[in-house]
Amino acid sequence: GSRWSLKGTTALVTGGTRGIGHAVVEELAEFGATVYTCSRNQKELNKCINEWKGKGFSVYGSTCDASSSFQRDELIRQVASTFNGKLNILVNNAGTNVRKPTIEFTAEDYSKVMTTNLDSAFHLCQLAYPLLKESGNGSIVFMSSVASLTSVGSASVYAVSKAAINQLTKNLACEWAKDNIRSNCVAPWYTKTSLVKNFITNEEFVNEILSRTPIKRIAETHEVSSLVTFLCLPAASYITGQTVPVDGGFTVNGFQ
Ligand code: NDP
Repeated sequence: GSRWSLKGTTALVTGGTRGIGHAVVEELAEFGATVYTCSRNQKELNKCINEWKGKGFSVYGSTCDASSSFQRDELIRQVASTFNGKLNILVNNAGTNVRKPTIEFTAEDYSKVMTTNLDSAFHLCQLAYPLLKESGNGSIVFMSSVASLTSVGSASVYAVSKAAINQLTKNLACEWAKDNIRSNCVAPWYTKTSLVKNFITNEEFVNEILSRTPIKRIAETHEVSSLVTFLCLPAASYITGQTVPVDGGFTVNGFQ
């Protein structure tokens, strides 16, 4: 096959009904992948899948709360049966944040962020491993954040969950290279999605962000999905274990 095509491949993208995950589903499908996605809202999921079918994309889906171990088991069972036990691409995208000062974090807040962002990604990698291996050519992409690299004031537990993902990326890259499975990580800065809509509609807050961001704007979701897609292509076959910021220069902006 072509180095710049995903024709004939299968992918699972968690959290594909909105935001970055939605753009990832669409772009993987555009490159020829057959995609399975999930979210917690059946109605929104059905609507998305119908729209994708209308565009000629091959997309399947079912509801799954990625923070539930039981539901993750069920999700992978469905993916395995849909794709005959073979999966080329796993995109661990579903994630959330609870924005509070550290001192105000309850045990429930902590658990919500860690189970949604870290436990889900770790366990889905474990569950998907036999399928990724069976495909003969696997690629895992994690959705991290620049909050994993530097303090951005978006809550410490979120930052910790994403930093753990960066390290998981490196360990899996080394552990599973023998199985022809690569593992990489994408670290966005502010991106126009429902997760951050309350912040990016606040002019004062946006101006503060832009004052630190050399490319003076907030990212579009397709500017993140393009990197995810690239990392899954045969063209990226020697790239593994990396965390790549998509941040308009934010993390390299020392002083101006
Ligand atoms: P959105 O909230 O806009 O979209 C999240 C998607 O994931 C929705 O489809 C949502 O559907 C689904 N989802 C959320 N929680 C779960 C769950 N527990 N189980 C299954 N599906 C779930 O988020 P973004 O697109 O902004 O974020 C995607 C990823 O990118 C996250 O990991 C986030 O941390 C990361 N990120 C985002 C940045 C940004 O500025 N937007 C910056 C840096 C990183 P539903 O709610 O119906 O389940």
